[in-house]
Amino acid sequence: MKDLGLYIHIPFCVKKCNYCDFYSLGCVADEGIERYIDCLCLHIGMEGKNYSNRRVDSVFFGGGTPSILSVEQIKKILNAIRHSFHLTEDCEITIEANPGTLTEEKAESYKSLGINRVSIGLQSASDSELRMLGRIHTFEDFQESYRLLSLAGIDNISVDIMYALPNQKTDDFIKTVDKVCEFSPEHISAYCLKIEENTYFYKIKDTLSLPDEDEQYKMYISLCDRLEKMGYEQYEISNFAKSGKRSKHNMKYWLSLDYLGFGPASHSCIEGGRYSYSESIEEYEKSLEDGNEPKKIPEADTPLTRDEIIDEFVMLRLRLSDGVNVKEFEERFEISFENRYKKISMYEKSGYICKKNGAYAFTPKGFFVSNYILSDILESI
Ligand code: SF4
Repeated sequence: MKDLGLYIHIPFCVKKCNYCDFYSLGCVADEGIERYIDCLCLHIGMEGKNYSNRRVDSVFFGGGTPSILSVEQIKKILNAIRHSFHLTEDCEITIEANPGTLTEEKAESYKSLGINRVSIGLQSASDSELRMLGRIHTFEDFQESYRLLSLAGIDNISVDIMYALPNQKTDDFIKTVDKVCEFSPEHISAYCLKIEENTYFYKIKDTLSLPDEDEQYKMYISLCDRLEKMGYEQYEISNFAKSGKRSKHNMKYWLSLDYLGFGPASHSCIEGGRYSYSESIEEYEKSLEDGNEPKKIPEADTPLTRDEIIDEFVMLRLRLSDGVNVKEFEERFEISFENRYKKISMYEKSGYICKKNGAYAFTPKGFFVSNYILSDILESI
């Protein structure tokens, strides 16, 4: 059996960013955070009993802003994990950290607690863009966080950036990319800003001047070119890594491998079955304090059909630059890939998809319109 991943959701932030629709609460009192951590530890203990035969090779503290937690709080959660699960020697332990919440003490403790990967949420190297996004930090804060982590000996750092921001031009975005590359992080994630409901940006969306699709395309293609020249492999639509530095944890999502989520709004996938917990910290805490497991909400009311399983496999694999390996697909599903997805050759001819090493994969320009191409390919079956 393949190793498990654990996702630990820390739903607290200093304040809510203008574009954010993740489940996170701004400005929670210390007692509230302590109570949540006690519940999280109870939950980890309960689930651990069900997986005593499985090893864990990745732990991911996501949020929210996990770096808001004190060293003692992180230690408590990690102790609960180590007590209840068997971590492999080379377990990847990642924490998301936001500039402005990281201190020298925290950086050093991460290292001593066995955290070996830190993902920094920068978003932009421009202070005016950061203010517009409602971020709590400046670029200088990011530089300081990076310095503290490096000094502490954390040698696997990822940086998150965003593009297609209001009023942003390709040149502005590329300045952010270049400034990030000066630090030479092991991994870079670059996401396109989406205006989601229930965000401040959604309320003022009519006043936002967003880059049009052509400008977004220029940003994306420039990003891919730039990072390729800087020695990064694009291994997923939005993710770039130096050799051997792909995110082990995130790969589990795209390969449909097993992972367990802890905390409200977290998701889990076990042997192909997906479920989540409700987006309510109150509900989550109440269940655990009453001695019950939080209610698991299945992602689908009925088990997926064989066709849905096959299409989901293809959709997830095509997010990766490794793509769909035809031999693996045909051995697994005992049908011909090219016969099922007849339109694939049309997109191959027009340069949106390429075939290499026996696998079909999107090219960078194909990644940019992958949602459209995927629905076209799947609808044509
Ligand atoms: S720091 Fe991250 S999780 Fe928190 S509000 Fe901002 S974008 Fe959302």
